Amino acid sequence: MIREDKMGKDRYCVVITDCDHGSIEEEKDEFGQMGAELILAQVQKEEDLIRTCKEADGLLNQYALLTRKVLENLPKCKVISRYGVGVDSVDLKAATDLGVIVANVPDYCVDEVANQTLSMILTLIRKTAFFDKKVKSGQWDFHLGIPIHRTQGKILGLIGCGKIGIEVAKRISSFGVKVIAYDPYIEKIHEGIELKDLDTVLKESDFISIHCPLNDSTRHLIGDREFKKMEKKPILINTSRGPIIDEKILIQALREGLISGAGLDVLEKEPPDSENPLLKMENVILSPHIGFYSEESIRELKRKTAKNVSDVLLGKWPSSVVNRDVKGKTRALISG
Ligand code: NAD
Repeated sequence: MIREDKMGKDRYCVVITDCDHGSIEEEKDEFGQMGAELILAQVQKEEDLIRTCKEADGLLNQYALLTRKVLENLPKCKVISRYGVGVDSVDLKAATDLGVIVANVPDYCVDEVANQTLSMILTLIRKTAFFDKKVKSGQWDFHLGIPIHRTQGKILGLIGCGKIGIEVAKRISSFGVKVIAYDPYIEKIHEGIELKDLDTVLKESDFISIHCPLNDSTRHLIGDREFKKMEKKPILINTSRGPIIDEKILIQALREGLISGAGLDVLEKEPPDSENPLLKMENVILSPHIGFYSEESIRELKRKTAKNVSDVLLGKWPSSVVNRDVKGKTRALISG
């Protein structure tokens, strides 16, 4: 299983199927330390994946689709580590059947997304982007942005209270904001946050921020019924996934003044069509799905993606296994 190099030494072979990060210094560091051969393949097609990865003991993967056919043709592969959270690119059932561990990196950008959320909330409360445009167009008049409210005593409602939601709550509590949350899957809530049902969160919140995953039960979770429940004309923030909000209904709600503003890092269609009305609304701020990004988060992502693979090759479970059912039938020799 272990490859011999030109000097006759045994060593593992690790292939990066594809990545668009520019440099692979973190990966080189990780696999250099264990003396493994690292190949940057940059391939997407099934036949190219099979050809370039057939000797691989482990794969790092970004977008290339690792189908059952591909996986069945990689007899030595023990582990696949995805750059990021989602593992849609990997046929999980096939990987599990074949004893291949699939790992991901769910926590590389928690700070970044929390900061993106908070910066959007504060920008909308203080109308910073609005005034910036006014002043630059020659209008020096604070009355244009009236009314503005203080943060002290206001309520932030989180929809989804996992890693990012908790970090948003920690940050905003220093502004005198009380935090409530709707999350049907947690029993014990983080200190300082009150767990409520969805309708109460919609009714009581001055700001609402979405931090649940996109799945069948959260697609269009915020639609006509939900906007009508928002009694305080809240500011709505979405740094999670666009389709969690029904965008047509959101546009209508903004037009009718049911909410006072929206901060959106994600949209139903990315990038948006040029005629999307959100692009012209003064109380809407947008960013191009950048919540995850900082130089440091990308380095962390690359380091952790590589570490998942090196851990398995060194006989350890990686810190985040996606296909837990693989336990007991792994190709890798894992202790514990
Ligand atoms: P997490 O898994 O730690 O937390 C998600 C929380 O949502 C969990 O507590 C879960 O119980 C809850 N949840 C699940 N279904 C729900 C529902 N129907 N209603 C309410 N809550 C529900 O995830 P996280 O790290 O906090 O990330 C949250 C989301 O942020 C991710 O799913 C992803 O979509 C998004 N994200 C966006 C960016 C970006 O660049 N903008 C980057 C990373 C993550």
